[in-house]
Amino acid sequence: MQEHLTKLDLAHIWHPCTQMKDHENLPLIPIRKAKGLYLYDFNDKAYMDCVSSWWVNLFGHANEYINQKIKAQLETLEHVILAGFTHEGIITLSQRLCALLPTQFQKCFYADNGSSAVEVALKMSFHYHLNKGQKRYKFLSLSNAYHGETLGALSVGDVALYKETYKPLLLECLSTPVPQSEDFEKELKALKNTLEKEGKNICAFILEPLVQCAGNMHCYSVKFIDEALKLCREFNVQVIFDEIAVGFGRTGEMFALEYCEQKPDFLCLSKGITGGYLPLSVVITSDEIYNAFYAPYEAQKAFLHSHSYTGNALACAAANAVLDIFESQNVLENNMVLSSFIWEKWQGLKSFDCVGNLRHCGMIFAFDLVGFEGVRKGLEVFKKGLEYGLLLRPLGNTIYLMPPYILTKEQASYIIESLVKILKSLTR
Ligand SMILES: *Cc1c(COP(=O)(O)O)cnc(C)c1O
Repeated sequence: MQEHLTKLDLAHIWHPCTQMKDHENLPLIPIRKAKGLYLYDFNDKAYMDCVSSWWVNLFGHANEYINQKIKAQLETLEHVILAGFTHEGIITLSQRLCALLPTQFQKCFYADNGSSAVEVALKMSFHYHLNKGQKRYKFLSLSNAYHGETLGALSVGDVALYKETYKPLLLECLSTPVPQSEDFEKELKALKNTLEKEGKNICAFILEPLVQCAGNMHCYSVKFIDEALKLCREFNVQVIFDEIAVGFGRTGEMFALEYCEQKPDFLCLSKGITGGYLPLSVVITSDEIYNAFYAPYEAQKAFLHSHSYTGNALACAAANAVLDIFESQNVLENNMVLSSFIWEKWQGLKSFDCVGNLRHCGMIFAFDLVGFEGVRKGLEVFKKGLEYGLLLRPLGNTIYLMPPYILTKEQASYIIESLVKILKSLTR
């Protein structure tokens, strides 16, 4: 069965983020079912989902509570056009999201994936300035940033692997260096220079607060973020926080913006919002920004952007269920305990010569394989991980753990013990 499916798959499916030729000798793994941390293939082999299925899953696969809520929603309303119509799930969800955020966050604009949320925030910022009579047309972002792979989102990103080929198609954007340590004087100076030169042309500065996840899990200074936001204010440049990966408890707090004194104008959320069940994303902003678009129809100030599945009712039911779990189960407190437990064990990996730059932030743990420049050692770790029943999906030679929050200490210990064995088996 497994082999049959793999063959059929390769006959018809072009997979994301994949050189398909790799699958000539790297078998695809069809998954038959999933439960909790585990994915099961057609031979009933289990894999621990160490990457939350691309950072989306929070409370395990086939979570009984979320299942039940989606099933109930399915029986009443699966989807309805969100233009001119609305539904209870999305109203409840929006109210709850705003209640979790600082008071200025009052308006939710929905889309159905992370990249689209970034597109929405970019267009909204541009359009805001336009409605205020200012023609600004540039965006500023950090080096090593990742904001998705549609053309606008790719334009503000900086991960060469995704961007290089498509450069001729992209918007011209400005980039400023991300700090490499707590000493960020140089980076702040660079930002100031750019703002002095280009500030009046820049709509917004977009950044992933605390951790650049796709940028090899680069953790950087929250103090820098505060200083950077202050500078942006001086130049009337708006700020977009892309919390698509770090939102919903990943960094320890519910949202990364809670670590910052300065707050952004736009907050982009997706990934964990539905607990990894269904596509949904949202851009949350202030009444002040919303009001810049609020005018008689003829004034042509409306924000015109839509996706067919915007605000899907099933996805909203999943999102509401996720918020229920956060409310009822002390998720953040439990994560704090689990995070220190994992971090302590993770640091034990320091003893390997090939392990460098161990780091963590909340429920994100990472290290780099060093001494293998230009060699796809991460791929070797991936393959060996499968033998231990681990789904690891290294970012190049960065190995990371970004597990669902239902991970137990025993499971965490097993993962790290397996990593020890894998690292021992790596040859130069
Ligand atoms: C995943 C991600 C995106 C893009 O989301 P998609 O749903 O994959 O389009 C954007 N920004 C960040 C920080 C992400 O991690």
